[in-house]
Amino acid sequence: MPGTAPAAVVIGGGVGGLASGVALARGGWDVTVVERATSLDPVGAGIVVAPNAVRSLDALGVGDATRDLAALQGEFGLRLPDGRWLVRGRAEGAASVFGDRTLMLHRAQLVGLLADALPAGSLRLGATASVTDPGTTSRPAVVSLPDGDVDADLVVAADGIGSDTRARWMPSAPGPVPGGSTAWRFVTPPLPGVVGAEIWGRGIVAGVMPLADGQVYVYVSVADAVGVPRDLDELRARLAGWHEPVPALLASVDDGSALRHELRHLPAPPTSLAVGRVALVGDAAHAMLPNLGQGGCQALEDAAVLGARVRPGDDVAAALQRWSAERRPRVENVMRLSARVAVPTLWTSAAAVAVRDAGMRAVGRWTEALGSRALRPIMSWRPPGD
Ligand SMILES: Cc1cc2nc3c(=O)[nH]c(=O)nc-3n(C[C@H](O)[C@H](O)[C@H](O)COP(=O)(O)OP(=O)(O)OC[C@H]3O[C@@H](n4cnc5c(N)ncnc54)[C@H](O)[C@@H]3O)c2cc1C
Repeated sequence: MPGTAPAAVVIGGGVGGLASGVALARGGWDVTVVERATSLDPVGAGIVVAPNAVRSLDALGVGDATRDLAALQGEFGLRLPDGRWLVRGRAEGAASVFGDRTLMLHRAQLVGLLADALPAGSLRLGATASVTDPGTTSRPAVVSLPDGDVDADLVVAADGIGSDTRARWMPSAPGPVPGGSTAWRFVTPPLPGVVGAEIWGRGIVAGVMPLADGQVYVYVSVADAVGVPRDLDELRARLAGWHEPVPALLASVDDGSALRHELRHLPAPPTSLAVGRVALVGDAAHAMLPNLGQGGCQALEDAAVLGARVRPGDDVAAALQRWSAERRPRVENVMRLSARVAVPTLWTSAAAVAVRDAGMRAVGRWTEALGSRALRPIMSWRPPGD
């Protein structure tokens, strides 16, 4: 590793790994981010960046650049397939409650901003890395790269939900489990007049999120219990009776550009998010169901806190245990809440769905009091020093 600063190796070039690289470089570490893919084509069409994550991006020096890329404010809420609103609000209202806007972005924009904020030459693509020795206070960690082993004062494993690092060095940590649904994600060509909304049907959830350039980020998840469509045509047929613009958006995307994934998550984070000099961040540590849109946001928080709490010259192993003690309760709580919110979206019985919708309508009437009370601890979070 070049340079004289203590060396940090980040395994994985997703949102969590890139953000960690930026945070550590800003803290004075000599960072190398190693990504096995040969290009940074992010998986996932769009991403919702909540206020807690926007403030994490501020801590990484890219908050304002990210805000500049985001859609204008406006109306948003929760709707029924026939278009009736269950919960309706304005982005400005939520921003005043949570202290910042929620940003809707092309994933490539977020990844591009983070990659550009890394020191020149610190990103290594097309290389697979693995932790050979997690190290101790008195011994560096060892990371195996295609051209040999390197010592590292700090390793960040941001290697995703299927993390080899977690499986190898935290063998008692639970692995991924199915979430009970399959999701499609895509960005459509521009369509004017689309209002941001999530739409809850029987076992099917669709989200339509207008982006700043007029394109629309769409996601649709279908519960196993209602039968997962074989292809996009079958999905279009299932949603043909939903209110516009849902059918029009589905019609405007070609099959090749839609991503399809069976949703999986970790039932709990590892007992500690760190072993030796190795920190587990993002989905590697706490992959969660996407119902709160917080998976990437929590990865950004991990990175911001890591940059603030683990400094060159520290006893890294001890600092990482303190970092884990700070982060673990929070990510576990967000994982639990995400799983809880997912449950009623998987319901298929007409009676249960009617009760659910009546409950959501009541929440809609009392949005300020109920909705924001549950979300406030998540969305109002601030990074250290903010
Ligand atoms: C349908 C859906 C919608 C979502 N919507 C949102 C949203 O709106 N907002 C939000 O905040 N979150 C959302 N999420 C969650 C979010 O996508 C993830 O939490 C986030 O992308 C995790 O980032 P990561 O960097 O931890 O992992 P990943 O993005 O999985 O990145 C891991 C990287 O590590 C690389 N890698 C793995 N092993 C190695 C190795 N040995 N060597 C080198 N490289 C390696 C991989 O190639 C990959 O690039 C959503 C998720 C889903 C499924």
